[in-house]
Amino acid sequence: MAPSSELVSLLSELVRIPSQNPMGNEIPGDPVSNRGDWYEYGMADFVEKWLLNHGFEPFRMECGDRRANILTRLEGSDGSPVMLWDAHMDTVPVAGMTIAPFDPVQQDGKLFGRGACDVKGGLAVMMTAFFELSKFEKQRRPTVILCCSCDEEFGQLGMKGLVKHLDNTPGRTAIPFAIDPALAIVAEPTDLDVVVAHMGVTRWKIVVEGTPAHSSSPTRGVNAIYRMSRLIGHLEQHAMELGYRQEHPLCGGPSLSVGRIQGGTSVNVVPARCEIEIDRRIAPGESCDGAIEEVENLLKAQLDVPFAMEPAWCKHAPFQDDVNANLASNILASAKKYHPASTSKGVRFGTHATNFSSRGIPTVVFGPGSIQQAHTNDEWIEIEQLVKANSILVDFAKSSIDR
Ligand SMILES: [Zn+2]
Repeated sequence: MAPSSELVSLLSELVRIPSQNPMGNEIPGDPVSNRGDWYEYGMADFVEKWLLNHGFEPFRMECGDRRANILTRLEGSDGSPVMLWDAHMDTVPVAGMTIAPFDPVQQDGKLFGRGACDVKGGLAVMMTAFFELSKFEKQRRPTVILCCSCDEEFGQLGMKGLVKHLDNTPGRTAIPFAIDPALAIVAEPTDLDVVVAHMGVTRWKIVVEGTPAHSSSPTRGVNAIYRMSRLIGHLEQHAMELGYRQEHPLCGGPSLSVGRIQGGTSVNVVPARCEIEIDRRIAPGESCDGAIEEVENLLKAQLDVPFAMEPAWCKHAPFQDDVNANLASNILASAKKYHPASTSKGVRFGTHATNFSSRGIPTVVFGPGSIQQAHTNDEWIEIEQLVKANSILVDFAKSSIDR
């Protein structure tokens, strides 16, 4: 078991390295001189060096401009299940934080800083557990692929590069070892519970056109905002009906929310265009395409004005608990040894898990820290949870040899 001092000092080093994801926005200020504060390239450098210094042979998978995954494979007992451990290296931006984001402070058994909870804490746990396994005899440990991934918080560039190996996509980056996991563990703050299912999400725009006219003679035009308001009324009704649908026992039911609206150019012009952005949460058993189609069909049937649906810019399928029952009960058995309150559960936030589970690879999400502290202005993690998570991972890996 890694002592808490080792975990705290590694996590502190990770927190000190900014790895903000710009979330699709331009980097503020001068993009060249400020770029060290953005993207997870500095983290990738650190993790790569750390792995080298600990006797591993990491591989850097370039996934875009200053975006990279760091991958390492530790060979274990022949015939043991190959497990992949994934933890992302990026964080959300630090704007609005009320604590020093990159100056980790320890207080009352907590460590404060951007990413401490989501998910540098989980990453530090996976790195130290990986190193501990490397000290075991080969026969006493499973094969583990450690995947420190990029761009989880926004575009999933890291997973897009990685899944090419799961799918044997031609032209994928050549890697000096196999990416052939029989099971996967994704680090996210789960409060040491085992997450076996979560919601998916899709987001898209609907556009309504009108005809512009001077606002002194509005009847000469067609008001796109009036048209859109009728459309939104139908969406509100649909959102309410979704609330009555059969709920997934672990994740709850689907939901829909109109989150943004934009229309018109000036108060004295009848607006020619109005657009909205929709966020639809997808329950296990549903699909993103199915949910979008359902909205299109009901609007076509009920609405008397033309509208256009733009292709969704975000489609994350839900994480289903259909193939992970064994894995979940095994990791839960290890978790209960160190944290009796651990339980298996579903959540509403999304993770990398779907990339593996949708390919038939049993997957769970597990890590220290609570999602309540993720992305917050005073982000922190309980140090005791770091230590327990480390013990749980090592115990789970060790006992997978005996099963
Ligand atoms: Zn995360």
